[in-house]
Amino acid sequence: YDVYGAPVLDASGKIRGMTLVLHDITEQKKLEQVRKDFVANVSHELKTPITSIKGFSETLLDGAMDEEKLREKFLKIILKESERLQSLIHDLLELSKIERSYFQVHWAEMTLVQIADEVVTMLNDKASTKEINLTLASSGDSTMQGDPERMKQILINIINNAITYTPASGKIEVMVKGNQSTVELKVTDTGIGIEENEIPRVFERFYRVDRARSRNSGGTGLGLAIVKHLAEAHHASIHVQSKQGEGTTFTLVFPKEQIDEIF
Ligand code: ADP
Repeated sequence: YDVYGAPVLDASGKIRGMTLVLHDITEQKKLEQVRKDFVANVSHELKTPITSIKGFSETLLDGAMDEEKLREKFLKIILKESERLQSLIHDLLELSKIERSYFQVHWAEMTLVQIADEVVTMLNDKASTKEINLTLASSGDSTMQGDPERMKQILINIINNAITYTPASGKIEVMVKGNQSTVELKVTDTGIGIEENEIPRVFERFYRVDRARSRNSGGTGLGLAIVKHLAEAHHASIHVQSKQGEGTTFTLVFPKEQIDEIF
């Protein structure tokens, strides 16, 4: 608590009592901690690739450049780490835009299954290099009010994760179901799963169940934080069901119609 105190004086100036104001700052402290953690996380995430880029460039300049094999190997690392920095900065900017509500939802009438089809087609190559069977099924009418670009982002992030966290020869099924007043999107994988108590945490910025694994696969730990914000902007609910070693299902339920005032 923040405490402010002031004496209460009578007409002659004698102290008659005391006024105390107690101000609950628990929430404020919590927010401050979240902000500090965030800055620490960002700094750490940026520092790692930069250290590596700097180190390998120095080694190249120190003579490794003359050996063809080393040269190629080190340059590849430098390129990979630069790409990592690039996607980190891209995700960070994206997240900060979304969190500061600078982003506009461009509402349109859209059909979710069409967007899902585009994304599945786009990610099919990536899935097949791991021999993962990525399929799309649909039922009902999935026409709804939404932002097609944002919806694409949601789908890319969730399906990309499913590919990353599913071992070779697995299966990923994307299901789009149009109901009376809602459209349901389900992405089910036969991947490594998420432990029950980790499930709520995966939507936190930079939270990763397995840091090394995620990093190796190009993950930034920001994808699901972005998904959560974009889903909220569409007034959608998110539900995650998972069993370790068996797989995970992400379910998003979108209202077909948004409230009038946003149009
Ligand atoms: P990342 O860039 O690390 O994938 P995300 O925010 O997209 O970050 O996801 C956070 C974490 O949630 C991941 O690091 C991973 O541990 C876990 N996760 C996300 N999707 C899945 C999935 N389909 N199966 C298992 N774990 C997952």
